[in-house]
Formats: sequence, C-alpha cells, structure tokens
Amino acid sequence: MLKYRLFINGEFCESDDKKTFKSTDPFSGEEIAEISEAGVSDTVKAVSAARKAFDSGVWSGLPGEERGRIIKQIVDKINENAEKLTELEVRDSGSTVRKAGEDVFLSAKSLNYFSKIASTDFTENIAGLSKEGVSRNLVKYEPVGVCALITPWNFPLKMAIWKLGPALAAGNTVILKPAMETSVTACELARLISETDMPKGVVNIITGKGSVIGTELVNNPDVDKVGFTGSTEVGKTIMQNASSNLKKITLECGGKSANIVLDDADIEMSIDGAIYAAFYHQGQCCEGGTRLLVHEKIFDRFISGLKAKIERMKIGDPKDKSVTVGPVVNKYQFDTVMNYIKTGIEEGAEILTGGKQFGDSGLMIEPTVFVNVDNKMKIAREEIFGPVLVVIKFKDDDEAVAIANDSIYGLAGGVWSGNDERAMAVADRMRTGTVWINEYHLMSDRAPFGGYKQSGIGREFGSEGIKEYMEAKHIHIDEIKDRTKKPWYRTVVPKDL
Ligand code: NAP
Ligand code: MG
Repeated sequence: MLKYRLFINGEFCESDDKKTFKSTDPFSGEEIAEISEAGVSDTVKAVSAARKAFDSGVWSGLPGEERGRIIKQIVDKINENAEKLTELEVRDSGSTVRKAGEDVFLSAKSLNYFSKIASTDFTENIAGLSKEGVSRNLVKYEPVGVCALITPWNFPLKMAIWKLGPALAAGNTVILKPAMETSVTACELARLISETDMPKGVVNIITGKGSVIGTELVNNPDVDKVGFTGSTEVGKTIMQNASSNLKKITLECGGKSANIVLDDADIEMSIDGAIYAAFYHQGQCCEGGTRLLVHEKIFDRFISGLKAKIERMKIGDPKDKSVTVGPVVNKYQFDTVMNYIKTGIEEGAEILTGGKQFGDSGLMIEPTVFVNVDNKMKIAREEIFGPVLVVIKFKDDDEAVAIANDSIYGLAGGVWSGNDERAMAVADRMRTGTVWINEYHLMSDRAPFGGYKQSGIGREFGSEGIKEYMEAKHIHIDEIKDRTKKPWYRTVVPKDL
C-alpha cells in the first residue's frame, strides 16, 4: 500500500497524533493508500511555516522570472510523471482513464501558463490630475501573503493546480488542503515539488478533515486569504469564518447550469454536446449542463436521438480506455444520487432512460434522463452531482432565458444554435460566469472562470484570476515643488506657517 505523509516546511512528517486514513478505489473497493491525517496542531505548524517563508521574502522577493523558472520545474515533473499520476487519479477517484489523462495534461498546461505569467509586471502608471503641477500614480500589485487553498474531490490534481498556479506566480506562500476523499495526487505533487528548487515553507500540503483542519486554516489569523472550491454550503461557512480577520476569499461553488438547444441547432452535434455537458465525469462537474432546455419544435426528435445515444455509452471499469462512464466517487455520493432519482419519480417526472445501478458492484449508476420536468421540482433546482440530467421543454428564447435564470446558481451554461447572433443574444441575458455557444466545458487559461449568485465569489484564470491573489497598492509620487501650489494648501495649513 502507498504511504503518504504531511508536507510541512519542506519536510515529510507524520501528524502529531500519528493518525492516518485510507484512500479507497471506488470501483474495486480496494484500499490503495494510507495517508497522514493532520489535526489542528499540524495545521498551525504548516501555517507558521508559510508565514515565516512569506515574511522572509524568500519567495515574494524573487524576481518573477525566477519564480516562473521554479514553477516550470513542477510543470516538467508533472509531465515526466503523467502516466503514474493518471493511474493514481483513476484508482483514487474513479475518474475514467480518459478523463484523468486529460486532467493531468491540462494541469501541466495551466501551470505552464502561470509559470509564464509570474514574470508579468502588472504595474499601472496613471498620470496625476492636478492642474498646479505634476504627480504620478503607480498602482502596484503585491502578493496577499499566506494563502490557504482548499479543494474538492472531483478534479483533484487540476483543482490543486488551479489554485497553486496563481497563488505561487503572484508570490504568495501556501497551505494546500485537498479533499480527504481524493488526496493521493496532491500528495504526489508534494513529492514532485520537494524535488525542485522551491524554497522550504513556500508550499505546504496537509491532508485531513475539512471540518477540523479546513476550519483551522480559515480561522487562523496568520492566513491572509482562502481560495476554495467546493459546495455552496461549505462556501458559506468559510465566508462566515473568514470574517474573523476579514480574510480575502475566492469561492468557486456549486451550479445547476442550463444547456439551451434552440430550434435552429445542429441536432446531432447538440445531442453529443448535451451528453458531454451532463455526463462528463459521471456528472460530477460543478459547471455541468444538468438542466437541458430543448425547443418544443425539435423536442421529440431530439429526445429520441438523445436516448438512443445515451444507451450506447459504455459503462464500467474506469481503467478501460473505451469506458466513458465509471463509478461515482463513494458510497455516500452513490446513495445521494440514487435518492435524487427516487425524488424525481415521486415529484412526477418521467425516466426516459437509466435510473438504476449498473451491475451489482462498483458504485456505477446508469446515465439517467428525466423528462416531464418542471423547473420548480427539486431535481431541477438542486445540484445532484451525479449522472442525472433533467430535460425541460420551452416555446421561445424568452422562456428559455427565464427558465435558465430561475436558479440560485449562476456558474455556467450553454446555447446551441445555427445562428450566432441569436445565440449571442441569449448568452448575453444568461446570469452566469461562463456561457458556451455550440460547445461545453472548455476552459481557457486566459479567460476568467467563476460564478454569479450562489455559485461563488471571484474568478480563476485570466488576469482577473491572478489578481485574486494580489493586493493593489497605490503609490502617489507628488512632484509639485512649491508648497503654496499644493491643492490642499489653503484648506488646512495656517497662512503664516
Ligand atoms: P465540499 O464538501 O464543499 O468540500 C470541499 C473542500 O472543503 C474539501 O477539501 C473539504 O474537506 C473542505 N471542507 C469541508 N468543510 C470545511 C470547513 N468547514 N471549512 C473548511 N474546509 C472545509 O465539496 P466536495 O463534496 O468535495 O465537492 C463537491 C462540490 O464542489 C460540489 O458542490 C461542486 O459543485 C463543487 N465544485 C465547484 C467547482 C467550481 O469551480 N465552482 C469545481 C468543482 C467542484 P473534506 O471533504 O476533505 O473533509
Ligand atoms: Mg478514494
């Protein structure tokens, strides 16, 4: 069995009370790793290592190019170990090998982007406004300080990189806490980072319960910022706890995104797109297109094509390259999803396909589609986070937009249409952080990702994303040499001074 320890101040160590927990392969049920379970005292140690490293300037004081060089070493290590990381991700999380391989590739690619952005000087030079003389205004961007990075179980390596990348590029020091359910690739990342020139204490990786060590990270006064991806419920708790010392926060939370198919869409392509939007990674994606809105004119044709294609999807062993639907992450999630299916039936929705466990072991659920759904139903309002799609019929674009926006969430959405202008008009009216037109899930390192409404606060990626890990500092340099010409001269200073 693999063994992983905490990574604090550049050293691997057991937790103070020597506690450990096991990681389980959801498909085989096999235990694959024994991982140290940190407690509050270990968390305090990790925070003070990060605090010391930040205050010493060992990282923030380096030229951006040098930080970029060291981040690039991590990129190279990920690429060299891609096969092993993919295999571990499959076993630890139940990701299909297709999805896990893509995650590892995209993690390296995103981190490479951040290695480059590390040398970008964001300083702005704004001319002074005084009529009497000249002043200069510099806006400089500085790291926030010590950042706690808390990640979920659905994209373990990728979420860790999405947070480490901007935080480190901006010059912060960090404590990463991956989800307990899927900590293995973050632990591997600690090993890879320990083999680079990263100064001690800059990156600390601790594993354990969110309710214990996550809470400590969010409450600890030496932490300046929390970057979180996870459920809206935990996001709200973090926001409350972070208020103790007004920590900066970025929250990437849940979603119930609408995927809208207009009557002029390419039917075959939008069916494929709808399947990809809803069932990628067994539906365990925050941005998933889990509410499919289909125009009444094409509804029947679309639905029969959708059913036929879904029933041809290959469900099974995630290690098999031809499988596109693997297990859900654990028994708790399995039961939650099956309960939602029961609720949908009780609410009067009708199952078009799926609805049952696949096989009798391995935590697999058939890709499930509900029709006759009203947007008021629980299955249309709550995030199920499993392979369950609800389909709603609409009569015109106005109604589609109204249904799409009738949600507490606002993370993402899709529009499928043969008319770009019409699709743009719909996209413009959707209250979400991302809208894909004739596409889904695709992200760009250069474009911001994040949620409106209860889907979150702040953005990841793009210049917005890195600035979430920076403080803006204004320096005003006044060049008016004659004190009597200063704009405030007559306001406060006595004339005879
Ligand atoms: P979760 O239960 O909210 O957990 C997320 C992380 O927070 C885990 O590391 C968890 O630790 C930790 N945590 C739990 N309680 C905490 C607390 N009181 N203080 C600090 N940290 C705490 O979410 P999940 O079940 O792992 O992931 C699924 C959710 O994530 C879904 O709602 C999904 O929509 C959302 N998600 C959003 C995005 C996005 O970008 N918007 C991306 C992916 C996922 P432990 O679980 O280890 O105890
Ligand atoms: Mg596991």
